[in-house]
Amino acid sequence: SIPLGLYAGLGKASKMGALVKGGNYLELLKDIDTVVFDKTGTLTEGSFEVIEINGSDDLLMLGAYGESMSNHPIAKSVVKKYGQVIDQKRISDFKEVAGKGIEVKIDGKLYNLGNKSYIEGLGIQVQNPLTVGTVIHIVCQRKYLGNIVVADKIKDTTIEGIKRLKKEGIQNTVMLTGDRREVAKDIAKKIGIDTVYSELLPQDKVMQVENLINQGARLSFVGDGINDAPVLARADLGIAMGGVGSDAAIEAADIVLMNDDIITIGEAISISKKTNKVLK
Ligand code: ADP
Ligand code: MG
Repeated sequence: SIPLGLYAGLGKASKMGALVKGGNYLELLKDIDTVVFDKTGTLTEGSFEVIEINGSDDLLMLGAYGESMSNHPIAKSVVKKYGQVIDQKRISDFKEVAGKGIEVKIDGKLYNLGNKSYIEGLGIQVQNPLTVGTVIHIVCQRKYLGNIVVADKIKDTTIEGIKRLKKEGIQNTVMLTGDRREVAKDIAKKIGIDTVYSELLPQDKVMQVENLINQGARLSFVGDGINDAPVLARADLGIAMGGVGSDAAIEAADIVLMNDDIITIGEAISISKKTNKVLK
């Protein structure tokens, strides 16, 4: 049976917005020394906006048609900027390339849309815009057409949340992302994250978490996406966003932040420490 003090702690955590799925997870919180975050949707809003278009007049239309079958937040921002993709019949053979981009046919012609490493991996050279942002390079029948730059906003609560973790004694805050290095570094600097790993594929994120655990970290991972479920399961303590999070992430997590607010993690650590004192 669960000791009374632990019940009180779980109740307090839940009032602050942290749904802890068991007394053992509340106890574990006080021992965590490393908190690893997925960037998009966790530290940032996860809703991008188009900030630049580099190419001919029809590039945005092609981007929107190409991305219209993808659920990725990057894809949604391009479709939103264009307006509405009306003629769905023009699109066929859509394929998502996880952590890289998409492949699709528009009017029977083959298009590749995605990041630099994806396009260069196809043997096609890209043009890099000067603006700091996430870049969607667009290729038609192996010919480079141009790019669309999108950007995400840092959540209002992120900077405060990271500060609070430091106050609770967390030694290492880490950000993992599939996004490009320049964007990741810029965001990490603004929010005070200690360590950044960028341009990662979904499977690389699991590997980075395993590396840190092997180096002795007592590690919590915080994420929201479908691709985050394996990483949440691998961490000593998995924390998912309850509001914006995918069902797979919420299922795989040990703690769910009902308010999507990372400040709650610091508050829950503090409750964990106090609960432990009461028990002793
Ligand atoms: P994150 O780590 O931010 O969750 P993902 O793993 O989903 O990112 O994607 C990594 C990178 O792959 C993105 O930053 C983007 O450059 C590219 N990418 C993924 N999906 C798409 C898409 N539908 N269209 C264009 N680019 C994409
Ligand atoms: Mg993600």
